[in-house]
Amino acid sequence: MTIDVEDYFQVSAMEDCVQRDQWDSMESRVQQSTDRMLALLERCDVQGTFYILGWVAERFPQLVQRIANAGHEIASHGYWHRLVYTQTPEQFAKDLQDSCSAIESACGVRPTAYRAPSFSITEKSLWALDVLVEQGFTDDSSVFPITGHDRYGIPNAKKEIHNLETKSGCLQEFPPSVGKAMGCPVPVGGGYFRLLPSNVTCKAIQAIERRQHPAMFYIHPWEVDPGQPKVNGLSRKAAFRHYVGLKNTEDKLQRLMQRVKFGTMSQAIACHRQSEAENSEQEMNQTA
Ligand SMILES: [Zn+2]
Repeated sequence: MTIDVEDYFQVSAMEDCVQRDQWDSMESRVQQSTDRMLALLERCDVQGTFYILGWVAERFPQLVQRIANAGHEIASHGYWHRLVYTQTPEQFAKDLQDSCSAIESACGVRPTAYRAPSFSITEKSLWALDVLVEQGFTDDSSVFPITGHDRYGIPNAKKEIHNLETKSGCLQEFPPSVGKAMGCPVPVGGGYFRLLPSNVTCKAIQAIERRQHPAMFYIHPWEVDPGQPKVNGLSRKAAFRHYVGLKNTEDKLQRLMQRVKFGTMSQAIACHRQSEAENSEQEMNQTA
């Protein structure tokens, strides 16, 4: 269970309508929507990984403390929510450092897991993996193994947890999961979770688990906030993607958490590594 903590106006689809220097003057909803998400997770007894935007952590340190105090895993979503492939490696490194400093001064935890804004580590920005390792990150969830999306995706990327070798060392990649709806590959989470019946997501997760792999689900606090102010100037497609199904998401998510067992990204990786080790031990015993 992963939650990208950002305000409703910070999403990539609104980049052209809301400039970053306007962020401070916008009505902020990130505290109330994240608190709503925290309450929902508590009701369902689920702990997740929170990828927090540095900009949010700097302005609302107590929110970061509430997330950490509830036992969730603290991770980074960058500082300015800039798409990785629009930055230079130096700008990306600075954005990472600023996010980690803001998060660490808020709650005392320096993140070692990262998710890029809009999963923007693609073939154009694979250099970012080196920068992550150089900056002390050990885990990443930014490479979407999917094709045909306008903002993200590496079509032939591995779908399961795997190690990525970089110039500077190794990074564990836990890619966001891909399910199927009417024969087409669809991301497991976010707008697709809001758009499609929850059964589609549930079945996708169960199918991945049957292949003995943990699935990766993602959501944002603004997706459980149907009362958020409407932002003008979005294209029809962008407005549909952002606003579809907001009213029912909280209920849908609660039902999903009652049907599927969720945990943090670290817990899922540890669990997976353990079962891999057990399987190879079994194989060794069989051959012996
Ligand atoms: Zn984001």
